[in-house]
Parts: sequence; C-alpha cells; structure tokens
Amino acid sequence: MQIAKDLVACIEYTLTDDAGTVIDSSVGGEPLAYLHGAGNIIPGLEDALEGKKVGDSFKVSIAPADGYGEKNEGLMQVVPKEMFQGVDTIEVGMQFHAQTDHGMQVITVAAVDGSNITVDGNHPLAGQNLNFDVKVVEVRAASAEELDHGHVHGAGGHHH
Ligand code: ZN
Repeated sequence: MQIAKDLVACIEYTLTDDAGTVIDSSVGGEPLAYLHGAGNIIPGLEDALEGKKVGDSFKVSIAPADGYGEKNEGLMQVVPKEMFQGVDTIEVGMQFHAQTDHGMQVITVAAVDGSNITVDGNHPLAGQNLNFDVKVVEVRAASAEELDHGHVHGAGGHHH
C-alpha cells in the first residue's frame, strides 16, 4: 500500500539542522502516526512521503517555505519584565505560552536587557532548513472516526 490521501502512515524519523545537530527524533520512542493529506505534518514532509511504502527509507531537505515558514521580524517584540509575573529569573531560550491576536502561541525569550525582554513569536524552527531522515514503518487505512477528526488515534497519534 502506497501512502496516499486519507491513509494513515507511521514513520520513524530524525530531524537535523544544517549543522547536523539532532533537533527531534522518534528513534527509541514511538513512531509518528499521521493522517496523510490532512495537514498534520509540515507540507514539505507530506509531499516527500506521497507514494512511499512500508520499508522505504529516504532523506529529504525541506526549505523554510515548506516547513515552519520564514522568520518574521514582525513577531519579535520588546516587552517589560512585569509581563512575566511569577517567573523569578528570565533567561534567553525560555518558552512561554502567550495569548496573542493569532490565538495561543509559544513565544521564546530572545534577549534580556535589564527589564526589557525581547520575545520571539516565531515557531522555534522558522527560517531553518529541516533535514529529515525518514523510514516508513506502517501504512494502513484510516478509520471513519479518524477521517472525521482529521487525525490519527491510538499509538503514535491522539489519545482522547
Ligand atoms: Zn480524534
């Protein structure tokens, strides 16, 4: 069975940046299960998986436009330290959930200058090339409920 729209695919993957640093990996854990064609994963990876079958391994390098987007400087802003109530020490790299005009987003502390905190609302992987090493471990039909929800249930997927 080849990966196609509305099928569930399970993949093992390792994601590295251009310097070869591992950013994320399923190796040693559960494979990632996703519903193909439903936008569960980044577009570049979904495109690369189209037509693949169990046992196929491949590497793909995905540009920001097909990954988490280009870094948007407009999402960087300086806020006063008082915004971080209950946090004793604010350090570069800390991540917080924040309510924004675009809904709940993860923001990352990019710089600390006295009581001025620069926060970055970009996805942590925005602007980066994403280098995936992927192996397809399972391809199966989706259940009616999975198609209805637009995501995979059970191992490697949603539990609810
Ligand atoms: Zn569901």
